[in-house]
Amino acid sequence: MDAQAVITGANFVSAETGRLVLVTNEGNTRFGMAPVDVHIALVGIEKIVPTDRDFGVFLNLLGRSATGQQLTVYTEFIKGPKSPEQPSGPNNMHVVFMNNGRTDVLESKCREILRCIRCGACQNVCPVYRQASGHAYRSPYGGPVGAVLSPLLFGDRFPELADLPKASSLCGACNEVCPVDIPIPDLLLRLRDKAKQEKVYSPGAVPMSGARP
Ligand code: SF4
Repeated sequence: MDAQAVITGANFVSAETGRLVLVTNEGNTRFGMAPVDVHIALVGIEKIVPTDRDFGVFLNLLGRSATGQQLTVYTEFIKGPKSPEQPSGPNNMHVVFMNNGRTDVLESKCREILRCIRCGACQNVCPVYRQASGHAYRSPYGGPVGAVLSPLLFGDRFPELADLPKASSLCGACNEVCPVDIPIPDLLLRLRDKAKQEKVYSPGAVPMSGARP
């Protein structure tokens, strides 16, 4: 309650109005913003949608695919610092758009992963994730989406993440449930091929290397 500033992300940002949407099921963003003077939003550039009307489609897809709700419990629409009528909230607001490798992903053969809305549906159906859990993916992103996104965004600093695309049976369940139809099994195969072309081998590949023709 004594904090001066809060840092959040944003689930979506409208290019039309600059309005941010933040969703949580616990109310943590609303709670975090209430007592502070400054709100800083760090937003990946892929979170930008064309208009406010697009929020309706994406919020419905997100709630339905994440937890089976029509709308996530706390859905905040934020267009700036608090108004004079509001009893609490930040007086200053800063939005920082992050590229951090995303335009490289856009240029790559795996650009479809930038459509991801982080619903987590692919994790819930993934037989590997359900056994291994999130920590096994060694990155903020776990499951099928993490197996694609982590090597792409963090692979230059953590080359060992190149083995994540192998953590899949390619059963296709992730693609089947994905609300934005990302062809995750195809992307995993493309990343396996990329690791092979670039000769980035995981430790697990070494014992088998002698058996190669
Ligand atoms: S890849 Fe698809 S199913 Fe997985 S988190 Fe992203 S949008 Fe959801």
